[in-house]
Amino acid sequence: MTSSASVGERVRVLRLAANISQNELARAVTGRDEPSNKLVSQIENGRQPIDDALLSALAKALRCAPDFLTRGRHDAVSTRPWLRAYADANAKVVESVIADDLIAHEVITTLRLKQVPDQIPLFHGDLNDGDAIEMFAGEVRAAADLGPDAVVGNAMRAADRLGCVVLPLISELGRHLGMSHRIDGTPFVRVSRPGDGGVPGDRQRFTVAHEIGHLGLHSHMPPPDTAAEAQRIERQAHRFASAFLAPAAPLLEDWERLGGRVTLTTLADLKATWGIAIKALVVRFQQLSIIDADQATSLYKQISKRGWNKNEPVPTTNERPIWLQRALDQRAKTEPIAAESRAIAARVVGLNEYMISRWIDWTPVQSADGVPAIPLAGRTRRTSPRTRAAGSGEVISLSSKRR
Ligand SMILES: [Zn+2]
Repeated sequence: MTSSASVGERVRVLRLAANISQNELARAVTGRDEPSNKLVSQIENGRQPIDDALLSALAKALRCAPDFLTRGRHDAVSTRPWLRAYADANAKVVESVIADDLIAHEVITTLRLKQVPDQIPLFHGDLNDGDAIEMFAGEVRAAADLGPDAVVGNAMRAADRLGCVVLPLISELGRHLGMSHRIDGTPFVRVSRPGDGGVPGDRQRFTVAHEIGHLGLHSHMPPPDTAAEAQRIERQAHRFASAFLAPAAPLLEDWERLGGRVTLTTLADLKATWGIAIKALVVRFQQLSIIDADQATSLYKQISKRGWNKNEPVPTTNERPIWLQRALDQRAKTEPIAAESRAIAARVVGLNEYMISRWIDWTPVQSADGVPAIPLAGRTRRTSPRTRAAGSGEVISLSSKRR
């Protein structure tokens, strides 16, 4: 017999993952426009007896089977997440992503998907020592099966090989392009999707590397107390990312071959090889003491004048991870009924297929889709053709009031 408390806890995690308010859920469950605003709070606190009718209404609204809600607690613990530009991240959205990762973690463990063990070495050196971070990046590259001089052909797959679960980040985190944390030892990395409303390939790659940097460099650290401390941590992760994607020796070798001058043309050529943004290469050359601050400033000015802040030349292909899809496909083979692997996974764990598809969906986002569609069933407020295409069944967009 499961308690109302554990059902309440699971309702809360699913609701947070869907990024909807208690009121929204109450409306979906009761079908009333003005439901008691205490209902969902009582449920989540385990103070509301839950009969079959309420259970199935909750399950329908949250897009899962009633079984999923009565399964008992999923006792997994998340570390505090690292985010790019953490300080001004929207706490509610961060909470929502953590909740969604907890559900993904539960699905992965329930299905017993074959995971790659966490291969990210942990840094024990001096975080203020740039050279130590460069060396560490080399160690992590080796752990990801990358030769010392090799270009990172696909940063997301490198993350796969390091044992990370890489999932798309809903673009509502805005300029926060990535987020990482560990759940019961499994590293989770979230990265924005490509497209108009998403990010170009070179920034995706940099973000993945940056988050791997946090997972290796900062796992032992408490959250930063001050903005200055947070900035220092960000710089360390940036340093790691540059060294991971463009190790000094081969990068400088290529640069010498191109004439050994730091010009925008040379940087664009290097970008084509190393898949790292021209602006990030300016930072890189400054890190490596090839140029000084004045030269960097002058290059930034030229970049800005050419309009490259918004749109850099030499587009880099967007990447996608493969581990989750492959693991689901493998798992599906063990089932007697042949069907699409996501459908099988959804049925086995008792979630709507849409919930699982979201974790594998790396299709480009349009800028108008900046606000995520909410997979809330039972009540339709406004369904545009675009949001309907995002998943199966009913989808509500909550964007109308924010536009
Ligand atoms: Zn960061």
